[in-house]
Amino acid sequence: MDFQSIFDQQRAHFLSVVKPAPLRIRKEKLKKLRGWIMANRKEIQHAVFLDFRKGPEDVDLSEIKPLLAEIDHTTRHLDDWSGYHAVSSPLYLLGSKSGILHEPKGVTLIIAPWNFPFMLAVNPLISAIAAGCCAVIKPSELTPNTSALLERFATDLFPPEEVTVIQGDASVSQSLLELKWDHIFFTGSPQVGKIVMAAASKHLTSVTLELGGQNPVVVDETANLKDAAEKLIWGKLLNNGQSCVSVNAVFVQEKVKLQLEVELVKAFEKLYPDHKNQITSGDWIRVVNERHTQRIAKLVFSTIESGAREILGGGISVTERMIPPTILSDVTLESPILKEEIFGPVMPILSFKHIDEVIGWMNSQEKPLMAYIFSKSKQNIQHFIDSTTSGGVAVNETTLNFVHPGLPFGGVNNSGIGKAHGKAGFLAFTNERSIFIQRRGLTTMKLAYPPYTWFKKLVIEVLLKWL
Ligand code: NAD
Repeated sequence: MDFQSIFDQQRAHFLSVVKPAPLRIRKEKLKKLRGWIMANRKEIQHAVFLDFRKGPEDVDLSEIKPLLAEIDHTTRHLDDWSGYHAVSSPLYLLGSKSGILHEPKGVTLIIAPWNFPFMLAVNPLISAIAAGCCAVIKPSELTPNTSALLERFATDLFPPEEVTVIQGDASVSQSLLELKWDHIFFTGSPQVGKIVMAAASKHLTSVTLELGGQNPVVVDETANLKDAAEKLIWGKLLNNGQSCVSVNAVFVQEKVKLQLEVELVKAFEKLYPDHKNQITSGDWIRVVNERHTQRIAKLVFSTIESGAREILGGGISVTERMIPPTILSDVTLESPILKEEIFGPVMPILSFKHIDEVIGWMNSQEKPLMAYIFSKSKQNIQHFIDSTTSGGVAVNETTLNFVHPGLPFGGVNNSGIGKAHGKAGFLAFTNERSIFIQRRGLTTMKLAYPPYTWFKKLVIEVLLKWL
């Protein structure tokens, strides 16, 4: 496939058609996109099911609803975000007018991962369309059914010179990365994020990198343990743990550790009363491929060998790509499972005496995408927020930052660069162009032009001290 010519066609179409089009056209595209999703809801459910056996309700909640929320929020606020925003001038620029023009960056590349294969390809596209950009989407090769549907989605809704889907593996992704994009929006692992950023640096292309990492959880002795347990089990098992915001290590205060473990097992039975059937009948969400299943299995076995106790689990099958929900207690900071993103339905539990032990550990690690705390203590919550950093924090909850379109979503450093969703997503695809309009004739700055006579020097003194 000739990627350069696709790129050139998009560039020409962007300059002649997409960029000059009125805002109304962008809203119409978003409306059509929403209509397509609703009309093809069953097809989306089916494709994702074929890829890793994700059930229809899960697809509705985590692939479709976030997109509808994103479209509605974006359409509602687009008038406010876009166009020209006047900015008042400081006194030393008296007489001038200025403002910010929100112009689309241009032709953009969206590279998507497999774990929410429809939603994570379309969500950035919503921002790209809202900003007035063209886009090439490269979905994941690990979810071929959804990627094929995404191709139909693009052909149904857009001419290829505006939005097109190019399927393929890492080699296709790398060929695409050689082109001179106006912006690259990548969602995936930190390892590949580095490859994307290196490629972008050749053209000094801006990037948004939505990456992964550890999402630690603190449960202190004041927490409502039953409530925390239900939320932790839900947050861990959403997408069978294959989510960038998934709960990773759970640090629980020593005094309430046993109680939390009991509540976790109870919560699991309550939320998944039919789990035995689901797992044996093949209805449970699968790990996407054997390589990832093997990786997670190895993490579980080596952590048990290092002294951890399995309080829920068993029945791993690599050939079936099945990791049943697993809770490991008595995990230590040295355990293998604490060294990488788990990306599977495994919850390691560690204990602490004082919250500062967890804070100290967090600050010695890569900055996480999310950090979670369950507590009734305002002091502990504030201390946790003030003493750590992460892309986001949820208090007495997990995961839901992602589905709030009013919150910028993304990591820091190793967990990501730049933010997505809502206004932040719109700005990722926008050049905030500064416009400065000066009056003709005498201006305040002319009073300080060289040569620096005694009067000009006086003006400079005034400028520095009072204006
Ligand atoms: P991945 O990095 O392996 O792949 C992502 C995309 O990059 C795919 O389209 C793939 O084809 C492409 N790719 C793979 N290797 C490449 C290479 N060498 N050069 C160029 N492109 C390449 O990620 P994944 O396994 O699909 O997804 C899981 C990861 O994504 C996890 O780390 C998870 O935390 C992260 N993630 C982050 C978010 C977020 O919003 N922050 C959301 C979902 C997933």
